[in-house]
Amino acid sequence: MLQIDSFLQDIEPILLEYRRNLHAEPELGFTEYKTTYMIGKALEQLGFTIFIGKDALKTEARIGLPSEAYLQYCEASALEAGVPSSWLEKMSGGHTGLVATFDTKRPGKHIALRFDIDSLPIHETDELSHYPKRKNFRSNKAGVMHACAHDGHAAIGIGVAHFIQQFQSQLTGKFTLLFQPAEEGGRGAKAMVEKGWLDGVDLFIGGHIGIHSLTLGEIAATTNEFLATTKINVTYEGVSAHAGISPQTGKNALLAAAAASLHLAGIPRHGSGATRINVGKLEAGSGRNIIPDLAKMEVETRGETTELNEYMESEAKRIIASVGQLYDVETRLDIVGAAEVAECDKEWIEWVREACSESHKITTIHPCLPLKGSEDVTYMMNAVRKQGGKATYFIFGTPLTAGHHHPAFDFDEQVLSIAVETIARTVHYLSHAK
Ligand SMILES: [Zn+2]
Repeated sequence: MLQIDSFLQDIEPILLEYRRNLHAEPELGFTEYKTTYMIGKALEQLGFTIFIGKDALKTEARIGLPSEAYLQYCEASALEAGVPSSWLEKMSGGHTGLVATFDTKRPGKHIALRFDIDSLPIHETDELSHYPKRKNFRSNKAGVMHACAHDGHAAIGIGVAHFIQQFQSQLTGKFTLLFQPAEEGGRGAKAMVEKGWLDGVDLFIGGHIGIHSLTLGEIAATTNEFLATTKINVTYEGVSAHAGISPQTGKNALLAAAAASLHLAGIPRHGSGATRINVGKLEAGSGRNIIPDLAKMEVETRGETTELNEYMESEAKRIIASVGQLYDVETRLDIVGAAEVAECDKEWIEWVREACSESHKITTIHPCLPLKGSEDVTYMMNAVRKQGGKATYFIFGTPLTAGHHHPAFDFDEQVLSIAVETIARTVHYLSHAK
């Protein structure tokens, strides 16, 4: 039997401290330099073996990197904030995130756990009703915010590492903790998969805080309705001209982008299942009296199955290219992110039920809840399942103050120790399961 109550009591202040420090210092995908260092230092002290930079990620498998200038700006600011240059040299150029391994030196399963660590380009609310503002850990970076609980996920990962370290004599096998960069936009997971970190993994756990507004203590043992997605950046390049003297010599990139947006919204819905399309950003033109020669759009497609997303993606590409021809502008199309569909193995429902039956805080275990979003963890889940391993994705219930990706998003911090408990009990159970 696992005696875990006093551990959970002791870990709570540590979880809060990391969550709040990370929340105040949010970093966008592939610029998680301070975040990676903060996590890495903690795990190193716990006796984990740390892999960072090109040892953690396959360089070419990363997609949708920020600009070189932004990467350099973030690296300089991390150096100033005290991240050692030895770490920054390894992480340079967007090689953020880390892998931490722990071997109990006893035969057993190889369990991998994934925690995503990036934030979002959202300006956090300044309202006093917002808990992080009241408690003084609101984002100190204008326009960047942990609005999807990945600050919490990173803290949970650190909590789980504490558990593995403290309870190692009661555990078997090997553990691999993946602190993944750039989940937002589906950009970072593949680079860890292609580095080989999921090779030989028997059991895989991912998870998310929130998603549904639930009460504390409600968790889901498995998740379904992952949406496959493709993120597309579009650039239309035309020719600028004087809008009064010679508009006929211009080629209007703004009109192309506007027309493409409307046509994209008109892609017929598919009879076989749910699909999505969104033009989330459109920037065009430079001034009132100039025929706009440049337009940029950020587009995404989604589908309930990989095939449905492929249908949306190919229709979107066809429309984007055709509209470019219609307006006689150059069209550039870059794929900057993606995620697959994945399934959780049903065995987890029984495993989690058994493992958590003695918990005081885990009150309701839903067999399965839907995600209805996209997650690049699916690349990891599929990699493990393809080789015969079992994968799941937990949902940790908490009341939410606002939806995910909202400037007032927040969760009840008590969910952190409940998540650590769920994972701790489950890996302890699996560590001894036949
Ligand atoms: Zn998220």
